[in-house]
Amino acid sequence: MKKIAFITLGCKLNYAETSTYERAFLKEGFEAVPWSKGADIFLVNTCSVTEHSDKKSRNIIRKLHRISPDAPIVVTGCYAQLKKKEIEEIEGVTFVFGAADKSRLVPEVLAYLRNDASVPGGHGTFFPAYSDGERTRSFLKVQDGCDYRCAYCTVPDARGESRNIPISSAVQQAKEIADSGIQEIVLTGVNTGDFGKTTGENFFDLIKALDEVEGISRYRISSIEPNLLTEEMIDWIASGTKFLPHFHIPLQAGSDTVLKEMGRRYNTAAFADKISYIRNRMEKPGRPLVFFGIDVIAGFPGETEELFMETYNFLKDVIKPAFIHVFPYSRRPGTPAAARKDQVQDSIKTRRVQMLEELSGELHEAFIRSNAGIKEQVLFESTDKNGMMQGYTGNYIRISRPYDPAMIGKIIDVTI
Ligand code: SF4
Repeated sequence: MKKIAFITLGCKLNYAETSTYERAFLKEGFEAVPWSKGADIFLVNTCSVTEHSDKKSRNIIRKLHRISPDAPIVVTGCYAQLKKKEIEEIEGVTFVFGAADKSRLVPEVLAYLRNDASVPGGHGTFFPAYSDGERTRSFLKVQDGCDYRCAYCTVPDARGESRNIPISSAVQQAKEIADSGIQEIVLTGVNTGDFGKTTGENFFDLIKALDEVEGISRYRISSIEPNLLTEEMIDWIASGTKFLPHFHIPLQAGSDTVLKEMGRRYNTAAFADKISYIRNRMEKPGRPLVFFGIDVIAGFPGETEELFMETYNFLKDVIKPAFIHVFPYSRRPGTPAAARKDQVQDSIKTRRVQMLEELSGELHEAFIRSNAGIKEQVLFESTDKNGMMQGYTGNYIRISRPYDPAMIGKIIDVTI
C-alpha cells in the first residue's frame, strides 16, 4: 500500500479540494499519512494570496523533498497556476497542476505511479469538491473563479473565470454529506454569491434547493460579496431557514476613496445599509445577535493616516462586527495596485494591522457579552483539546465543555 501525504495551504476551497483528492486516492488503495513522517508521494495544494503564501509553499515543498527525497511531489492550487515554471524548478517536484488541470490530477498521477501511459487526461472546467475531515461540518464547493478585477487581487488569474456546478449536483453532494452523518455545510467558492454563471442559475435558487436537503440541519455561507447578498435573500434567510445568523462579508476598506481605488463594487453607505438591513430583519429581543465577520486590508497603496482612520472608525462606530479578519496589503505582481508608487511602508502597515486586531478583540468580547443569557444551539465537534471539546453556536460563538465522545455531532441547547 503506497503512503500519500496531503498538505493544504490557504482557503477553505483548497481544503475542500484536497479532501476530494484524498478520497480519490484512498479509493485507489493509498494510505494517507502525516507528511512529517515521510511518504511515497506528496500532494501540496498551494495558496498565493500574498507573497508570504508563495514563500510558505516553496518552503514546504523543499522540506518534503528533504524528508523523502525519492517521493514525487505533486503541486496544485493558486500558486501552481500563477508560477508554474518557478515551481517546476524546485527539486522533487514531478507534477504541477494549474486551475484548468485539476480534474486531470488524479488519473495522471495514478498513471505515472503505475507506469501507464494510456490513461487519458480530460480537461474539466469545474472540479467538484467537498471536505469530510471534520465529522460534523463539511465545506462544499459550489463555485470557482472570479470575474471581478479588484486592483490588488491575482485570484481571477489563479482560479480563472466564474463557474459553478449545477444546483442538482450541489444538492446531490449535500445528500452524500448528509448520508455520512454530517449535519452542517459551509458553502464555499471564490466569489460564492456569483454562483450561476455556467448554468444560468442563481445563488438564491441554490440556497433554497439546499435548504430542502434532509439530514442537513445547518448551513453557513463562507463569504459573500456585499453587493450579491440581496434583500430578497436576507428576508428568506430570516424567515426561519437552515441558514444561520452568521455572515462573512469582505469590506476591505471603510473609506470611499480607498474602496474606489480598490475597484470594489459598493461604497460605505451601501455596505452599512446592508448590515443594518440584516440586523433589522434577523435580530429580535431574546434571539441571538448576528455574527458578522468582516475582511479588511490594511495599508493599500495611497492609504494615508486619515483614510485609514476612516476605515477604523467605520468599523468601530458604524459596523461593529463580531470579528475583523485583518490582512496587511500584499503587493502582488501584475496587479494595478502593485504598480502604484504610493506604497505604504511595512512598519505603518504592521501598526495598522495591530490596531485593527485590537479593535477586533474588543468587538468580539462585546459581541459575546451581548449574547449572554440567550439560548442557542451548539454542534459539538470531534477534536479533543486537553480533555475539552468545542462546538459553535448558530451565530458562531465557540463553546467548550469537557470531552464526551457521545456528544460529537450532536446539536445541544445551551444558554450562553
Ligand atoms: S471579488 Fe475581488 S478580491 Fe475577491 S476574488 Fe474576485 S477579484 Fe479577488
